[in-house]
Amino acid sequence: MRRILVSIAFILLTASVLAGVSVSKRYRSERNKEREVRKSTEFIVLHTTEAAEKSSLRHVSERGLCHYCVTASGDIYQIIDRHRVAFHAGDSMWNKKEEIDNYSIGIECVGYHDKVMPRKQLNAIRDLVAELQSIYGIPDDKVLTHSQVAFGEKNKWQKHRHRGRKRCGMLFAMPSVRGVLKLESRAAYDPDVKAKRLVVVDKYLNSVLYGSVDTMVKTYGKSTIKKVDPIKSKLQKPVANIQKKGINGEVNSRPATVKFKIIPQTITELNAQGFKVVGTVTKKNLPLNIVGKHWNDKDTYYVIRGRVMPGNIIDPKRFEEGMTIWRKSK
Ligand SMILES: [Zn+2]
Repeated sequence: MRRILVSIAFILLTASVLAGVSVSKRYRSERNKEREVRKSTEFIVLHTTEAAEKSSLRHVSERGLCHYCVTASGDIYQIIDRHRVAFHAGDSMWNKKEEIDNYSIGIECVGYHDKVMPRKQLNAIRDLVAELQSIYGIPDDKVLTHSQVAFGEKNKWQKHRHRGRKRCGMLFAMPSVRGVLKLESRAAYDPDVKAKRLVVVDKYLNSVLYGSVDTMVKTYGKSTIKKVDPIKSKLQKPVANIQKKGINGEVNSRPATVKFKIIPQTITELNAQGFKVVGTVTKKNLPLNIVGKHWNDKDTYYVIRGRVMPGNIIDPKRFEEGMTIWRKSK
């Protein structure tokens, strides 16, 4: 396809703004382009890297092992585009569904499954998770830990397919930590154990995930959370502003009220956020003709072959025939 060159200076931003926090692309994975677009998004899976920051970032980036990585100081790095598949869950199952990578967003948190995390880091995780929940309509109880969805196949030592392959992200199931994350509920039981698809081999883990073991109360304080039946739990409508009720009926301070601040990355997301096609680029109809000085606004989007690019970071060398331009209709 012939590319149209337009000689206008362009700005290349390395960071994009997301609900007041900066998401850095410094560790964006080279694997990104090979990854398929995910067909559905039902869960957010929280992980702990079990390693120090530098090696964690390098490792997840080299292999494309998550969508976001959050450091102890609360910096958020985008590793894989959030609408593509990242390989974070491995052998996994939730309520009969296997290969959870195909249905989830994976967030790696630098730290350890049983160690306290700095508030700054938890606050960054809270904001990121809230944004993603509102975009995809994911309820609190579908924000899971890797240890909840990971399972092990039968092997020399285990006669059955089993739950308890790893404890990754375990602390995020504890009520005290969920309290800091403003997650008001968690799954009441393991649906695959209940249905006898899997057997529990790590009893301690099980009592953290579904029982009353919470080793972080001293640090973060007590929190009461609702127990939700994971089989009955449904995705919500993706909404921009759900007003969440606090435990005493007060409106929660959680940023679920923010309107979509994440940059849309798919045509579905553009539509959901009220964007419309305002023109199609041809040799004679350049972006400047179509949207004038708005050609490089952050709320002008360019779409070609399913790829969505915001105007403030697009390289004019990428303008080509057939590209659609999207803006919000006034
Ligand atoms: Zn993990």
